[in-house]
Amino acid sequence: MTNHLFSLVRDGAPDLAKTVIETHEGTLYSYGDLIARSGAYAAALKAAGVAPGDRVAVQVEKSAEVIFLYLGVVRAGAVFLPLNTAYTSAEIGYFLGDAEPALFVCDPGKREALSESAAGVRQIWTLDAAGQGSAAEAADAQDGAAFADVARGPEDLAAILYTSGTTGRSKGAMLSHDNLASNARVLVQHWRFTAKDVLIHALPVFHTHGLFVATNTVLASGGSMLFLPRLDPKKILDLMPRATAMMGVPTFYTRLLKEPGLTREASSSIRLFVSGSAPLLAETHREWQARTGHAILERYGMTETNMSTSNPYEGDRVAGTVGFPLPGVDLRVVDPETGAALGPDEVGMIEVRGPNVFKGYWRMPEKTAAEFKANGFFITGDLGKVDPRGYVHIVGRGKDLIISGGFNVYPKEVETEIDALPGVVESAVIGLPHADFGEAVTAVVVGGQNAPAEAAIVADLEGRLAKFKCPKRVLFVDELPRNTMGKVQKNVLREQYKGLFG
Ligand code: ATP
Ligand code: MG
Repeated sequence: MTNHLFSLVRDGAPDLAKTVIETHEGTLYSYGDLIARSGAYAAALKAAGVAPGDRVAVQVEKSAEVIFLYLGVVRAGAVFLPLNTAYTSAEIGYFLGDAEPALFVCDPGKREALSESAAGVRQIWTLDAAGQGSAAEAADAQDGAAFADVARGPEDLAAILYTSGTTGRSKGAMLSHDNLASNARVLVQHWRFTAKDVLIHALPVFHTHGLFVATNTVLASGGSMLFLPRLDPKKILDLMPRATAMMGVPTFYTRLLKEPGLTREASSSIRLFVSGSAPLLAETHREWQARTGHAILERYGMTETNMSTSNPYEGDRVAGTVGFPLPGVDLRVVDPETGAALGPDEVGMIEVRGPNVFKGYWRMPEKTAAEFKANGFFITGDLGKVDPRGYVHIVGRGKDLIISGGFNVYPKEVETEIDALPGVVESAVIGLPHADFGEAVTAVVVGGQNAPAEAAIVADLEGRLAKFKCPKRVLFVDELPRNTMGKVQKNVLREQYKGLFG
């Protein structure tokens, strides 16, 4: 038996001299380097006593070296567990206590501050943004070429990835070798990735988008990546003429649209722009197409499911939709109360099933049992519908559904109407506790110049939406609270304004 996930990379590797990662400082790493260096990490992990199935927790800045470490963990048969670089010591303490890793790799600058949180961990290594630290030294001492991959089958765990924590405490999603390998294979095919591709990679590598969707897809196709430590619109524009593809969260696209340098010319070498992790405004999709000639391809996925749907590579990429279920993925929309499958255009709970769907939440058997149906479908927690052409529309999260006076209000429907008003940049519609209605529909609006006043917005909506859907109040803010992945944090807004209606 081979190492199921790493075989994908080995088999996808073209000429070993070919570049796989170019860093923002211009350092080039070849596929040969990637194989040798990940082998050295795997050997170092083994020498340090990391056994197959052990977790290796990692909270480090983005670098090419983290990718080699990730693959080293996989090749050693262990479980890669990346953590958001924004987590505080207290949060890290929680994750380490929950995951019980055999080894924790952190930034040398945080080593001291994290010592209490990491007190229960057997070993701690360091790795900085330049790829230096005791982890790198441990790898330096090994012969990477000599490492024999630990055999792992499709069902063995390759990673535990914590969810973004948008709706509550993050949960550890257990992802198998085949969850990751099958999804990478499907995306290579579906998005037509080949060894000729050069991807602009400015996403973090602790999240499914940057680590699995972007990195695994490129590795499986033999392509290369231009690494940027973070979203930097000017640097992205500089790289564009050398690239063929970019993947980003919606913020990438809204920020790039503010750059006068973003033109048809500047993006002429790109064949594919992909967006996901949060809803892309239909307006952004249209503006992008007008400016660059490219229709952004929006897709939908979760930490738990990898990618589930995608707009087509060829054919209509419809703004405001996330396209069709990917090959091998079953998707259905059901009535959340009865579980009955719903017809076209009926809004309900989205459920998915397929080789992409995770093995369960780490150490949360009850939660896992509650989120899976007997027939294998996973309850995503996202509300949506499938239109008559088969395109999936995400209407919002189940937890964000507003029940006002006994009626269901889908925030997205109200947001779409508000966003279409001249002078409105974007909006978030939430439900706030209200003595009469249970929850009162409330709009939090980012207004540009000439934004309409509260009364004007309400009056306008009353002409177009049923009365129970119209906001009882409209509040104006400079910007919406977002997390690192560009997701609007509605729980922060609900907390902030919870006393608005007394
Ligand atoms: P938590 O589960 O901890 O609350 P999270 O759900 O934000 O956090 P992720 O797994 O990073 O954590 O995000 C998955 C969610 O992101 C999906 O369930 C969906 O709500 C949202 N999402 C992803 N892609 C899209 C998209 N294209 N359009 C709308 N929503 C999207
Ligand atoms: Mg989630």
